[in-house]
Amino acid sequence: MSAREPSFRQSVELMFNRAAALMDLPPGLEEKIRVCNSTYVVRFGVRLRGEIRTFTGYRSVHSEHMEPVKGGIRYAANVNQDEVEALAALMTFKCALVEAPFGGSKGGLCIDPRQYEDHELEQITRRFAYELIKRDLINPSQNVPAPDMGTGEKEMAIIADQYARMNTTDINARACVTGKPPHAGGIKGRVEATGRGVQYALQEFFRHPDDIAKAGLSGSLDGKSVIVQGLGNVGYHAALFLSREDGAKITHIIERDGALHNADGLDIALVRDWIAHHGGVRGCPHGHYIEQGGVVLEEECDILVPAALEGVIHAENAERVKAKLIIEAANGPITATADEILRRRGTVIIPDLYANAGGVTVSYFEWVKNLSHIRFGRMQRRQEEARHLLIVNELERLSKDKELGWTLSPDFKERYLRGADELELVRSGLDDTMREAYQSMREVWHTRQDVPDLRTAAFLVSIGRVAASYRAKGL
Ligand code: NAD
Repeated sequence: MSAREPSFRQSVELMFNRAAALMDLPPGLEEKIRVCNSTYVVRFGVRLRGEIRTFTGYRSVHSEHMEPVKGGIRYAANVNQDEVEALAALMTFKCALVEAPFGGSKGGLCIDPRQYEDHELEQITRRFAYELIKRDLINPSQNVPAPDMGTGEKEMAIIADQYARMNTTDINARACVTGKPPHAGGIKGRVEATGRGVQYALQEFFRHPDDIAKAGLSGSLDGKSVIVQGLGNVGYHAALFLSREDGAKITHIIERDGALHNADGLDIALVRDWIAHHGGVRGCPHGHYIEQGGVVLEEECDILVPAALEGVIHAENAERVKAKLIIEAANGPITATADEILRRRGTVIIPDLYANAGGVTVSYFEWVKNLSHIRFGRMQRRQEEARHLLIVNELERLSKDKELGWTLSPDFKERYLRGADELELVRSGLDDTMREAYQSMREVWHTRQDVPDLRTAAFLVSIGRVAASYRAKGL
């Protein structure tokens, strides 16, 4: 990135400022909402491979207008305070947009997890969690982390266990972190949630002919060409669902070591399997290998899905990006400078604070499940089935009446009778959330002449909600 590029945190602030300038907030309140409340930096040592290694970690709290605050923990070699604060700010606005009752937070540990064995990662994670727990920076009622880049179910289960060891009488201990595996207090559908949310966001976008036309596209998702950057948790699930369920063609996948191309559409599961066994896309027989992955962002396509990391579309390459629609599955993939350029060129951008909110939405469901100590649907499911049975029996009785002359279709009975399980309920709640949030942004985008894009609209909605919450507290 060039020197004229703002940092990630500055980028988020510039985007915030653009929206705040269109609002009527008292200056003091605007400043209060913009700034990051606190950042805790910890350095701790762990004895590994016969020596003491020192690690640096962060936990930022951007806004406590609602508590607990919420935000993932990222493991990456270049994590820094600026990045964690930018991500914490995005969490504040993301939660407000999807009406998850949390403030914004984020954490990070400077570590390349690929350099460590599982048991070493457990030791490091436990120690990092210990440092945060003893300061209430992990706590079911104050600060609830989740997975992010470089972390997943395994790390979340370790954090939950560490919290339980240090708080043996806390009946809500499991709610101290989300993204846990289902057998350790997690919820079905959390692993896929962010990618699933990206799919639901695109499905909702394609329900609105005006919006499709603004992007210079037409029709549905079926047959659309898609480039995905990053086949990790978010990118993999988004690509898998879009290709398998919506008929989109994933023509390119960009990974750390290059890109893969197949004009007929890549088989996502096969590519993921290859990466899992070989560490990258090089040599993968399911597509044509391109060494310079970064330039593939500039290839012709209908939809670009950056799902890896921040700042990948910047002042230097934005002019050359040809996608008509960009959905920010990653946090901050487009810098503020690139955002200006793309907006000028008419590219429609579905912004990160909406696009990847599926993760925090299902995390919210998991937190509620942990606090209520019962899985979703347990009380209602069989009762629902019994009521459906009444209708099916009645329909079957009527269908025997020759004079009426109709029959039930073969699989109707089975499909109608079955009450929803936890996964179906989670997906339904997520779909509802993504639709509602899109509509709230879209209304502002279409009704206000001074709001030219979805990102400004999203910030307007979110800042308005955070401001209302501060006002209700008398601030
Ligand atoms: P992940 O670690 O599972 O996957 C990241 C993927 O990107 C990996 O496959 C990695 O190899 C690839 N990658 C890394 N550097 C790259 C590069 N320079 N070029 C191409 N590919 C590269 O992470 P994730 O959880 O999928 O997160 C991805 C993004 O989504 C991040 O911005 C994260 O903050 C955001 N996000 C994640 C979640 C979640 O629930 N996991 C929720 C909201 C937002």
